[in-house]
Amino acid sequence: MKDTTNAQKPVSSRIRVENLKSSVQLKGIMTKYMLKAKLNHILPWKSTAWVAAGFPVELCYSMGIYPLHPENAACVSGARKVSLELIEKAESEGFSRDLCSYFKTNIGATARKISANLGGIDKPTFMASTNTICDTHVKWFQIQARKMKVPYFAFDVPSCVDGIGDERMEEYIDYVAEQFYDFIGFVEKITGNTFSEKKYFEILKKSDRLAELWHEIYEYRKIMPTPVAFQDTLAAIFPMVILPGLDVGIKYYENLLVDIKEKVVKQEGAMPKGTEKYRILFEGIPMWYRIKYFHQLANYGAVVTYEPYTFSFGPRKKLGLSLKESIRDVAQTMIKLPYNYSLERRIKYFEKTIDDYKLDGVILHSNMSCRPSCVGMIDLKNAIQEDKGIPVLLLDCDMNDPRAFSEAPMQTRLEGFIELLEANKLN
Ligand code: SF4
Repeated sequence: MKDTTNAQKPVSSRIRVENLKSSVQLKGIMTKYMLKAKLNHILPWKSTAWVAAGFPVELCYSMGIYPLHPENAACVSGARKVSLELIEKAESEGFSRDLCSYFKTNIGATARKISANLGGIDKPTFMASTNTICDTHVKWFQIQARKMKVPYFAFDVPSCVDGIGDERMEEYIDYVAEQFYDFIGFVEKITGNTFSEKKYFEILKKSDRLAELWHEIYEYRKIMPTPVAFQDTLAAIFPMVILPGLDVGIKYYENLLVDIKEKVVKQEGAMPKGTEKYRILFEGIPMWYRIKYFHQLANYGAVVTYEPYTFSFGPRKKLGLSLKESIRDVAQTMIKLPYNYSLERRIKYFEKTIDDYKLDGVILHSNMSCRPSCVGMIDLKNAIQEDKGIPVLLLDCDMNDPRAFSEAPMQTRLEGFIELLEANKLN
């Protein structure tokens, strides 16, 4: 047995992941987005909509509706360290500790009327979400729509469980596609805005370009040392979530790619030269109130090189189809989201990624208040450990509720994980 007793010691307590140069542009993009959101809220002839992850935001832009994203606003509250106060406000209204902490952050944020830079969000013209990722998206918007007295539209997306035949899948696609036309009618009735096929295809083309660039960024992450860390993608995901179909996101990703290519030519990574020791896959939503955790990993030479969560926001779109075919294609994407994969398919996806990105370890965030993020994690962990022979750390935590993050045990588990990574390298 080789001596690994020093493995848990940080390589240095000062190793910092270097963000891509163009990352700083995101602050300006977000500020403009928030200002525009405020303007669209104030001007009586403009319309806004709350939408959730998994909703085809392109539809909103096609119909002149400005999308607002409560989940994104909740991340801001977490990162600005005000989420706990907002969650406690929601709990004081009777919402249980077990419920989604994004939802409770939003309940607290609207009750307290906090500013946009802390995660506040204005009352929209209407709300729209789907049950494709979780049922919380439906209950959350139902509750808030009732409170705010605004209309709500729910897409009902069937679950794509294993064993569904092609015929049944075609029926599912038709069922979801029909709801697109219902949604268009709903928006036209409420706002008076009409649907333009020409505009829809323009938006879809740009949305696909954004996804293409996102995929290219991930291709570069396969390189050793990786030029892009989670510290870049966890922020850069924002245009993918809320700005698909707009030029601003495309320009931003193109600039990130210029930086990435420059780094690759110079053989520079996200970590200082010679410090990338362990390449990690992180699955789940990060702990927004404790992003420092990923910098702590870096101090041990560990860099997060791939996240299924951030990658999942950028599915490619099929172009050149008729409107009917295109809507069916988008409907199919909504049904077949990676978070709807069966355990077997998920294991295959993770194991292929481990090979493609030459990963040394996996961290699975078993997120206390997000069921889609934690279902099947133990089976996934066991399968990866057995098949790939690499360590998997299961983190029991929460994305926005800091009460779930216990400093000392988290540090101990992190050190144990690093020790296993080191032992694995030596074997
Ligand atoms: S339960 Fe998870 S997926 Fe659903 S709204 Fe909350 S964080 Fe998002």
